[in-house]
Amino acid sequence: ALTAGIVGLPNVGKSTLFNAITKAGAEAANYPFCTIDPNVGIVEVPDERLNKLTELVDPKKTVPTAFEFTDIAGIVEGASKGEGLGNKFLSHIREVDAICQVVRCFADENITHVSGKVDPLSDIEVINLELILADLESVSKRLERVTKMAKQKDKDAMAEEIPLTKLKEAFEEGNPARSVELSKEEFELIRGMHLLTIKPMLYVANVSEDEIADVSNNEYVQKVRDFAKEDGAEVIVVCAKIEEEMAELEDDEKEMFLEELGIEESGLDQLIRATYDLLGLATYFTAGVQEVRAWTFRKGMKAPQCAGIIHTDFEKGFIRAETVAYDDLLEAGSMTAAKEAGKVRLEGKEYEVKDGDVMLFRFNV
Ligand code: GDP
Repeated sequence: ALTAGIVGLPNVGKSTLFNAITKAGAEAANYPFCTIDPNVGIVEVPDERLNKLTELVDPKKTVPTAFEFTDIAGIVEGASKGEGLGNKFLSHIREVDAICQVVRCFADENITHVSGKVDPLSDIEVINLELILADLESVSKRLERVTKMAKQKDKDAMAEEIPLTKLKEAFEEGNPARSVELSKEEFELIRGMHLLTIKPMLYVANVSEDEIADVSNNEYVQKVRDFAKEDGAEVIVVCAKIEEEMAELEDDEKEMFLEELGIEESGLDQLIRATYDLLGLATYFTAGVQEVRAWTFRKGMKAPQCAGIIHTDFEKGFIRAETVAYDDLLEAGSMTAAKEAGKVRLEGKEYEVKDGDVMLFRFNV
């Protein structure tokens, strides 16, 4: 299963946020694909469409979909040189599929900041630079070897030299691998290196409890937003402390709490959805009277692969999928009405499943 890593300097609120995630946490038993590990928190994906489908179908049970966050502790300046947890830390990042970088945007004099003052941009720079330096080292080593082979006119080496050189140049200018334009072929050649800075990243601006309702006066958040814009990255504003308190509340209590604070949606819920998207994930639904359920698939997957997420037999024996778009089903008001309106399609093996498809798989056993 794909997972997103939570990284950040010490004392920025990572553990607080991760606590919120595990406390709000989904039942691992419902999600057999998920890892059982203290550093992994499973979150359910909040999805209004699932509630609407539940109202429509009135099933015995409703199951949301879920994915994982991994807590990656302790990056400090010098990690790429092995300081702090150094290499161990970097190898943990290597294993995740996307990165959520927590940035401290709250000024609390009681809480020490590692570098002495709250300065989100310099924090971001420290972390991003460590990741770039680690990548620079891997790419330089590889390039050295490949260049030697290329001199002997080794065809593969000559091809690989091109993307490696582009990457090295970018790193030397302080830019991440994801900013480098690579052709599909070039990307394939360097994919196996699992570079840290090729992973998609978003920023989590952690603000104080008095500012969460209105961050327009928080200059730290503004700075992070400006920076992220250039990086093409998203910024999610949260108050980790409030999320941690809220994680233990029931849904209706949570809603009241949010209303009191003057917030529309919890930052954690926003973070979950943004991260899901960052991981390249999307949702399809099954809607039977026994169970209405959301399923996670990777964008671009075809119908048989999606069927295989439910059960491998569904993929092996796949015949076709009765498919209706969520909006069409809701508009029609029932599956029968949707069929009568001609909105239910029979899709075959080549159908690329779309986010929000409601599906019924037909298969041979
Ligand atoms: P980590 O080192 O990044 O894991 O940071 P922690 O989660 O341990 O947080 C460091 C300190 O900052 C703790 O004392 C937290 O209670 C505090 N903290 C975290 N988030 C917030 C927040 O949103 N507001 C305030 N005021 N304090 C926070």
